[in-house]
Amino acid sequence: MSLIVQKYGGTSVGSAERIKSVARRVAHWKARGHQLVVVVSAMAGETNRLIALAKDIQPTPDPRELDVVLSTGEQVTIALLSMALKDVGVEARSYTGAQVKILTDSAYTKARILSIDEQKIRGALDQGQVVVVAGFQGVDEAGNITTLGRGGSDTTGVAIAAALKADECQIYTDVDGVYTADPRIVPDARRLRTITFEEMLELASLGSKVLQIRSVEFAGKYRVRLRVLSSFEEEGEGTLITFEEDENMEQAIISGIASNRDEAKITILGVPDRPGIAYQILGPIGDANIDVDMIVQNVGHDGMTDFSFTVHRTDYQKALDVLAPVRAHIKAREIVSGDKIAKVSIVGVGMRSHAGIASTAFRALAEEGINIQMISTSEIKVSVVIDEKYTELAVRVLHKVFNLEQAV
Ligand code: ASP
Ligand code: MG
Repeated sequence: MSLIVQKYGGTSVGSAERIKSVARRVAHWKARGHQLVVVVSAMAGETNRLIALAKDIQPTPDPRELDVVLSTGEQVTIALLSMALKDVGVEARSYTGAQVKILTDSAYTKARILSIDEQKIRGALDQGQVVVVAGFQGVDEAGNITTLGRGGSDTTGVAIAAALKADECQIYTDVDGVYTADPRIVPDARRLRTITFEEMLELASLGSKVLQIRSVEFAGKYRVRLRVLSSFEEEGEGTLITFEEDENMEQAIISGIASNRDEAKITILGVPDRPGIAYQILGPIGDANIDVDMIVQNVGHDGMTDFSFTVHRTDYQKALDVLAPVRAHIKAREIVSGDKIAKVSIVGVGMRSHAGIASTAFRALAEEGINIQMISTSEIKVSVVIDEKYTELAVRVLHKVFNLEQAV
């Protein structure tokens, strides 16, 4: 007998029919003798609907009250799923975040989990019940309802699995696992049987939407065995997220290609090359609460240098506004910028032990005439910024040059 935490996303519980189908799946696992905790999201679209409703009342909704509104989405699905389970003869009980109790800090709409009272869940499990818990929500020390940020049910699932030391945390979603690239861009993209935490973390932050990034961090920290599966398929092993040191099979050098169009690029030309200049430029950007992703500063020549960085597109105009007086103050020549860029990245732990990955990627892009505007690397990733209109082409070309369509 294993203890398994299953998390079902919004599309998996998007209708009464879908909820009944989840109940049948849960019943099937229960019949095999497992103990089950089931975490559910709100029905697809419901959280968006609730946010819009709140904004109709108050354009910038009061955060405490917004969380009270948002938590209702998951409260509906836990009760409906518990009913569906009872209907197929499975003892089940629904619990809100506050009932369980999932204690969080008081940062409304982006609260962090502090602890989970696992005794309560264990008690119910020991009585043979399936425990159905509302994802995405918690309660603070003072008893206020909180939510964990969009996509937060993944984190609830992983946190409960960590607290209970569950044998596995299964994330059921509308795709059947993690792919070598977005199958809508690369038709012969392949589902990965395994991927390491570090790779998953990179992919999640580089634009893969399969798992909420915080849930991956959490799983890595507490060593939760995490698996992504489709709730639309009867059987299937999905993708298991593994720890690198546990990998005994021969690892592919590259695991996946990610892309996003979330960033904008800003270059300051003719910056006086002297100590403190990077701080003078990026200090005010940080003070304005704007996150910077890539940064490139060129070698100086004739006492001058060029300085480029990228920000999230939603912060693009704000960043330009902040920089205009900075440019005048440091007496830089001019600012050129653009938001029609894409970041395309190759990710793989095998890069640590293989030379020439970056040059292979650059050659492949060059052969297609794709110009690289910026490059950044980590131990397990190479990212390039290119013209947005070449995004799909770049992803396909990189997928091909590393033979990702072939199983290892
Ligand atoms: N219902 C929440 C959202 O839509 C949480 C989740 O689905 O994970 O963001
Ligand atoms: Mg989700």
